[in-house]
Amino acid sequence: MSSQEKLKAQLEALRQNFIDQLPARLQTLESGLEKWSAAFDEVELVEFHRAAHSLTGAGATFGCDQLSTVARALELQLVSSELAKDIETVEKLLDEVRLAIGNAAQCVQAEPDLPPAVFNKLVQNENCLVYIIEDEEETRNNMVVQFEHFGYAIKVFATPPELIAAVESQRPTVIIADIILAEGDFGGIDVINSINSKLDQPIPAIFISSDDSFAARLAAVRAGGRAYFTKPLSIELMVDIVDELASVEESQAYRVLIVDDSESEALYFEKILEQAGMKANIVCDPMKVLDAIREHSPELVLMDMYMPKCNGVELASVIRQQPSYLGLPIVFLSAETNRESQLEAMRLGGDDFLTKPIKSSHLIASVSYRTERYRSIRSRMSQDSLTGLLNHRRIMESVNKEVARIQRHGGQLAFAMLDIDHFKNVNDNYGHAVGDRVIKSLSRMLKQRLRTTDIIGRYGGEEFAVIMPETSTEVAVKVINEIREHFASLQQYSNDECFHSTLSAGVASSPPIASVGELLEASDQMLYKAKQNGRNQVLS
Ligand code: GH3
Ligand code: MG
Ligand code: MG
Repeated sequence: MSSQEKLKAQLEALRQNFIDQLPARLQTLESGLEKWSAAFDEVELVEFHRAAHSLTGAGATFGCDQLSTVARALELQLVSSELAKDIETVEKLLDEVRLAIGNAAQCVQAEPDLPPAVFNKLVQNENCLVYIIEDEEETRNNMVVQFEHFGYAIKVFATPPELIAAVESQRPTVIIADIILAEGDFGGIDVINSINSKLDQPIPAIFISSDDSFAARLAAVRAGGRAYFTKPLSIELMVDIVDELASVEESQAYRVLIVDDSESEALYFEKILEQAGMKANIVCDPMKVLDAIREHSPELVLMDMYMPKCNGVELASVIRQQPSYLGLPIVFLSAETNRESQLEAMRLGGDDFLTKPIKSSHLIASVSYRTERYRSIRSRMSQDSLTGLLNHRRIMESVNKEVARIQRHGGQLAFAMLDIDHFKNVNDNYGHAVGDRVIKSLSRMLKQRLRTTDIIGRYGGEEFAVIMPETSTEVAVKVINEIREHFASLQQYSNDECFHSTLSAGVASSPPIASVGELLEASDQMLYKAKQNGRNQVLS
């Protein structure tokens, strides 16, 4: 069965389930009418209205249009002002609902219009492969040394046929091409054009040249060049660009929390969103929504309006009362068509209002657009601007979370504090901009050399913190030591001058340490000791 067919079958089963439950829903309506009309009690009316409204929405979702229409008429009658006197009309409308329920089994649901899945989980480029075509041997060798330092696998070629053969046997992440080759003044551009003309997905190219003419730059742009460097080359800047091209954004599925007291509808929307590559979780009991948010960290809440115990608007306000969820998008999905009620819901904390029935493609588009925005804003807020690592606040949040996890579930973690040695001298000797580049080179190295499960942050100026879950002290020291050695061997550049930087680090672990405060203090003490001992070392 194809995934589309599977989805269709699942949706059909949910619809069948909805139809099967219609007699029970009818009973709820009938007893709602009975209870309310006994004394015209407001509370009973709210319940009665909710039952009718829920049928409007679910009917629309499951393709029972006529049922949805008559349920809506009933619902509207129940909120109209002449209501109390007109029990007859209410009874008449309920009769129509009864009739529509009787016919519901025959109605057909339109096929969901599903856009193709949004996420084909992109592969993280762990083994980023760079090809270089360059006919000057010295430039070539220099680039190899530098790129290898930055953790890239690199292959160099002197002539176009060699490059073409290599691309055919393995596709690189990026090609860096010298424009002027023995083959001609635009030889590098020609070979990139010839390679990419045969590919559906062109390989990103960076051009280098001693020719700074407009014609050469234009030709490079036309060949799809992502950057253009003139000689002498600034390898760091080039590595930055390659980093950018190579770091295919880690595209995790969007996380959505669906809050709906009607399980069959919640499941229906879950299926639609999952088909689009998102990860959806369901809460049917509004009282459990905060727990669910804590557990699943959703990036968007899709909220029903009318639920027992607590309605969607109240629930949105409760969520908004928690400072950390202030920015969490809340989108109402309801059969409510009254514009005033919709606006009121948005005023009280909703971000958007979608009405049922909703086209699948529309739902997916609205949800992905808001989630995407939320994700990008959040990541910008939690990132250090120079390095893209977690900022101080986030890394502290993470340590707290990880230590609490260990307290609850056991396990271990290592915490490392790294500090660049005599960094003040770098700034003093070469200027702040060069200092910034040294910081970036270390952050890049940390990202490349640590596991994706490790949490890396910029703790302060030239200090970095690394949380290594499920890692013993010995292993952590070994890994940080490798990074220390590698960093020390890295050539740093300032105009024409080369220099080297070193770092010191302190490592502490939990257990035995049980509190965040002590963990930070212990690693800081070790770092201090490493500095005292002569720097360029890791202590634990
Ligand atoms: P030690 O080996 O003892 O760590 O000596 P140090 O010079 O590295 O330590 P110190 O803490 O005295 O100086 C750190 C310097 O780092 C001071 C500050 O101006 C500089 N710094 C902090 N943040 C940045 C930054 O973002 N960019 C640059 N270029 N320099 C920074
Ligand atoms: Mg320092
Ligand atoms: Mg310092």
